Amino acid sequence: MTATRTLPTVKLLIGGEFVESQTTEWRDVVNPATQEVLARVPFATVDEMNAAVASAREAFKSWRKTPIGARARILLKYQQLIRENMQELAALLSAEQGKTLPDAEGDVFRGLEVVEHAANIGSLQLGELANNVAGGVDTYTLNQPLGVCAGITPFNFPAMIPLWMFPMAIATGNTFVLKPSEQDPMVTMRLVELALEAGIPAGVLNVIHGGADAVNLLCDHPDIKAVSFVGSTRVGTHVYERASLSGKRAQCMMGAKNHAIVLPDAHKQQTLANLVGACFGAAGQRCMALSVVILVGEAQSWLPELVEKARTLKVGAGSEPGTDVGPLISRAARARVEELIGCGVAEGAELLLDGRNPQVPGYADGNFVAPTIFSGVTREMTIYREEIFGPVLCVMQAATMDEAIAIINANPNGNGTAIFTRSGAAARHFQEEIDVGQVGINVPIPVPVPIFSFTGSRASKLGDLGPYGKQVVQFYTQTKTVTARWFDEDEVGHVNTTITLK
Ligand code: NAD
Repeated sequence: MTATRTLPTVKLLIGGEFVESQTTEWRDVVNPATQEVLARVPFATVDEMNAAVASAREAFKSWRKTPIGARARILLKYQQLIRENMQELAALLSAEQGKTLPDAEGDVFRGLEVVEHAANIGSLQLGELANNVAGGVDTYTLNQPLGVCAGITPFNFPAMIPLWMFPMAIATGNTFVLKPSEQDPMVTMRLVELALEAGIPAGVLNVIHGGADAVNLLCDHPDIKAVSFVGSTRVGTHVYERASLSGKRAQCMMGAKNHAIVLPDAHKQQTLANLVGACFGAAGQRCMALSVVILVGEAQSWLPELVEKARTLKVGAGSEPGTDVGPLISRAARARVEELIGCGVAEGAELLLDGRNPQVPGYADGNFVAPTIFSGVTREMTIYREEIFGPVLCVMQAATMDEAIAIINANPNGNGTAIFTRSGAAARHFQEEIDVGQVGINVPIPVPVPIFSFTGSRASKLGDLGPYGKQVVQFYTQTKTVTARWFDEDEVGHVNTTITLK
């Protein structure tokens, strides 16, 4: 790969300056609907990456002592700037990632909500105090920032997921090095520019670009104390192991295969509409997309209507009004999804709706796959075992809700799930028995709002604490316990050779 100077280049952010990388390794950022090259992103050199970490380490000395109120005011300004620039951010996101403009706005908005929450962090970071734990002795805790923290983000939510990370880390007094996805870093960089405009001081937030080498450097670097990762299970497992091995805290939110259970007593039209939106929205490139639907009992007769609803979705460029399903992120992603569809056919699943090679007028080069539905899917099939991450729905059948729950709990992933029913008792049984992090009851994509934390079970998550919300305050802080006694001037000292405080 060589740099083409006529194209805009994505900058690194080191010590408060947006700098051009001196690397010789570059990658194109491509509009997935048109193949237009929008910019070139560098794979930063080791010296540049080390400089970013060093600047974060230096900035930590003063940032950790910056008053809570001063930090909060920067984040309040930041949320205002994101709001004011929402349309521009959404357009940039849609151009490089492919999702529709309303969905791109949703991506920014869900991140904005975390910024709003981060501005309120003071009350969540409070310590505890016990008065008179011994005569004249008090014990209290300080929840202090860790130091330099790092974030590694995926391509599918280039606004929301970076905003899950750095605002909370910075609000709690840490400094940060972010490594966005190399596939769509431009909206992330615009959000970073706005963060600086809001007043985040030089060195508190730094950005490097790259792939595996950059990620490995962040996992290994002795000055980085914690790593947040969101992405695939394969890479997340590697990050968790490598970062833990070098003594860091790590939280890795990873891949998914999200199942919905439809009981025959569900509200039919609402359920079908919800399923189609959650399966095919964002072209299935959401970690919370529903990719398996289990129809229980008589709900199996709803399948033809589900297929007809999916057939009506409009495939097109994300920037075109009325588009429901945009392109996949890359040609490679499209080829992979088409190959998996071929696998489904070869392994005997029934292809009820074939979305391969859709005609999209004006966008002949786009990475499009239209909604695709398989029925008669079994647990052994590749299309069931793999996270397809495209607009492909696997439909399965079960005689009872318990049979459906058993299928879900036997799948290695436990990111999201949903049940559709009018029965409170059935929903409660599901909520109790299902081993999945995010559970929806007549809600297809139950992403928690920022006063809660995102979570995940089994192969979908490594690490105890989730991103944003209360849990991430614990992740980004360490507790110091102080036990204190103050003597009056006239007190007489006694030698005490026991460990008991009295
Ligand atoms: P990915 O794992 O390919 O990439 C994530 C990050 O890891 C990127 O920054 C990338 O540069 C880096 N990376 C890629 N290959 C690497 C390697 N070999 N070594 C070290 N680093 C490497 O994921 P993606 O394709 O960008 O995103 C899609 C995946 O993310 C899906 O599996 C999806 O389910 C998952 N995801 C999960 C959540 C969640 O909260 N659980 C949210 C969004 C996406």
